[in-house]
Amino acid sequence: MVEAAGRVYLVGAGPGDPGLLTARALELIATAETILYDRLIPAAALDGARADAELLYVGKEGGGESVPQGQTEALMIARARAGRTVVRLKGGDPFVFGRGGEEALALRAAGVDFEIVPGVTAGVAALAYAGIPVTHRGLARAVAFVTGRTGDESELDWAALAAFPGTLVFYMGVGRLGRIAAALIEAGRSPQEAAAVVQDGTTPRQRTVRATLETIAEHVAAEQVGSPSITVVGPVAALAEHLAWTTARPLAGFSVAVTRARAQASGLAHSLRELGAEVVQAPAIRIEAIPGPPLDPSPYDLVCVTSANAADALFDRLAAGGRDARSLAGARIAAIGPGTARALRAHGIAADVIAERSVGEGLVEAVADEAVTHALIARARGGRDALPQALLARGAGVDLLDLYESVAAPLSAETVARVRAADYVTFTSSSTVRNLLGAIGDDARTESASGASGTDGRAGLSAHTRVVSIGPITSETLREHGVAVDVEAAAHDVEGILQALLADAAARVR
Ligand code: SAH
Repeated sequence: MVEAAGRVYLVGAGPGDPGLLTARALELIATAETILYDRLIPAAALDGARADAELLYVGKEGGGESVPQGQTEALMIARARAGRTVVRLKGGDPFVFGRGGEEALALRAAGVDFEIVPGVTAGVAALAYAGIPVTHRGLARAVAFVTGRTGDESELDWAALAAFPGTLVFYMGVGRLGRIAAALIEAGRSPQEAAAVVQDGTTPRQRTVRATLETIAEHVAAEQVGSPSITVVGPVAALAEHLAWTTARPLAGFSVAVTRARAQASGLAHSLRELGAEVVQAPAIRIEAIPGPPLDPSPYDLVCVTSANAADALFDRLAAGGRDARSLAGARIAAIGPGTARALRAHGIAADVIAERSVGEGLVEAVADEAVTHALIARARGGRDALPQALLARGAGVDLLDLYESVAAPLSAETVARVRAADYVTFTSSSTVRNLLGAIGDDARTESASGASGTDGRAGLSAHTRVVSIGPITSETLREHGVAVDVEAAAHDVEGILQALLADAAARVR
């Protein structure tokens, strides 16, 4: 029997920072038809998955039992046999305490093709992010990865571990740290040796507790360090004092929800992560092109472009008629703001005019001195009237070209919960407001009894969440929906949002 056989990719997703997903992992996530994933994968790992991908969670439910291993393996095998491309996504590296070996054996036994994609393992990366090199000349010539989760401590050879000439790195079992440390000391490891525990390594929530082997369990209990945590025992642990480097980022410890369409979100999300924030991607809208005939721009002496999306769609319409940037040679080109100007530049056009305020009225001011007889306005469906009315009032002919629309994109319950828990929610257009609030639903409405944000309804957003708006139009839409605006960007673009967020975060007590 011959059938198109699927394949299973056992893929390491790294320890938490989405920047530590490998290029190969991202490529496979983007093409997979089925993705089975665990709890400990970066929150952003699935952002690049196909919209029609089957996403199956096979991790632990709220600290309870995992989906049984056999069931996970049976699922992978069934999907692969059905001809699907299957990604089995695991935290860290699939072959380091990830049961990847077991799953590969099951696939081999079933005659299913597989590929292993190594990942960045927590035992190295969480420590690196805490400023702890696992080896160091003169301090550690070897490193051992050890599981801290054993049926009982007698399963480990403590004498061998105590005598190990190098760094000990314990995965799992932070709850057993007292017994682990005691067993090591009893077997002869020095109680004075440096030790550290890194929780949520490489994520914005990362924290490190340092002490000696003798006192580390006490400190960890006092500071309520939980899972996931890596424990390191060895003189390298003391280097964190000199090498810690992650704490200085200005948005560290804050989670920020990004509501724009996935295709548009990457710039903002990337910058936020660079600043240390944890990003919650909540693409409440999707950009959908409006089909239409090829565009002949020759009648126009002024072309106004009101968003980066409109710039891209405009060039699609030109290309449909075999035209390119040269066909716009006879017209002056006006962009609503720097983001739109950048998008135009990518198509070979340097805008003649860029509005200072990135709203319709700003564009009206910007084109006030342009001679115009026949204008084209490239825009979203339902765009605002300020610009066309001003041009008509000047006696110009105006053609409105609706090139795309923002349509609601469904959000999973998990995403909605993460948005509601976020420190900030950013809104970059009125359509993100309407659709995000729609997705959250009025039933989740919370009254801020104690919060600083007053007693206005928050339309389902939490009282502690600060609402960030890109500019006055978006703010107005928020207020119409009963949501008070905490932060409004002075410049109405991504850079403006970042500046406003940074200023607000700096003023907040953590
Ligand atoms: N395959 C994974 C390990 C899976 S075992 C890897 O290669 O990293 C799960 C354990 O990994 C957790 O109990 C914890 O000890 C560790 N771990 C995973 N992610 C972590 C993180 N972000 N910070 C600290 N420890 C982490």
